Amino acid sequence: MKKIAVLTSGGDAPGMNAAIRAVVRKGIYEGLEVFGIYNGYQGLIDGKIEPLTAGSVGDIIQRGGTVLRSSRCPEFKTEAGRKKAVAQLRERGIEGLVVIGGDGSFRGALELSKAGFPCVGVPATIDNDINGTDYTLGFDTALNTVIDAIDKIRDTATSHERTFIVEVMGRDAGDLALWAGVAGGAETILIPERSHDLGEIVGRLKQGKDRGKKHSILIVAEGVMTGQELASGLMDEAGIETRVSVLGHIQRGGTPSGRDRVLASRFGARAVEALLAGRAGVAVGMRNHAVIDYPLTEVFDGRNAKDLGLYDLSKELSI
Ligand code: ATP
Repeated sequence: MKKIAVLTSGGDAPGMNAAIRAVVRKGIYEGLEVFGIYNGYQGLIDGKIEPLTAGSVGDIIQRGGTVLRSSRCPEFKTEAGRKKAVAQLRERGIEGLVVIGGDGSFRGALELSKAGFPCVGVPATIDNDINGTDYTLGFDTALNTVIDAIDKIRDTATSHERTFIVEVMGRDAGDLALWAGVAGGAETILIPERSHDLGEIVGRLKQGKDRGKKHSILIVAEGVMTGQELASGLMDEAGIETRVSVLGHIQRGGTPSGRDRVLASRFGARAVEALLAGRAGVAVGMRNHAVIDYPLTEVFDGRNAKDLGLYDLSKELSI
């Protein structure tokens, strides 16, 4: 293998730039020519492909977002679209592709690999929702962004003796809400992986008030319901007044944390190693503190489901 390419796809996540840098530098270190594809799969189909040098990825390790930019590309979900993409790669003699993105992007990478074009996926999404890896790039940074917001909201909640609801991103996954809720000392955390009971939430709020709590913070993952819906539910159920804070896209941006930068550097390098070793159709990940690569099919077959012991602990600690 002499030439490889890298792209970012789906929602942006802090650490994507650090991963691009690692793929380019590791590739060059191994004697490869590395190409950058702009605007994700759409740019691949359109041939927005340029050679990258060690210098062209300088000064990006600390930046959020992605210098290669990203996109959602419905055409890539079709066989015809993917054929155009492979033709663009082959035309330039590119023999391997690193896809940095979330599970949708990984489906695209799996399809390309099945069609005979070697791909490796690097998990990057603040949702931490990719089976088989303990962490995805961006999760740690987003987690710290949410914790910072909760800490600030807590100041007001305490000063005014109010109940606040904080709506957190995560799509169908509750990791960001759960981890941020535990780290932020939230009284109640609602995640899609566990059912909830409005009556029980009301009971906990009342119990807290009875023992003299000055404020309450409830975290709701967007995959459960909106913060506003929860606020209405509490009002209807027990006349409890709350304030709602929707954190929104601030969770996706920002300078990547040290942990995300190191993870991105390791993931990017491992992706190049996997391609060079002929292990195509794999995802890079971290399991039990070790960097691994494993078949992309495992991302989608329901294996390696997460342990939600942290949820049970959150209940024990928020009495
Ligand atoms: P995030 O989790 O941050 O949203 P993502 O990678 O899951 O990131 P998606 O929008 O789901 O984001 O997917 C990104 C792109 O991957 C899609 O726009 C599409 O081009 C490609 N893709 C998604 N699903 C498939 C599929 N089944 N087959 C081929 N390509 C796909």
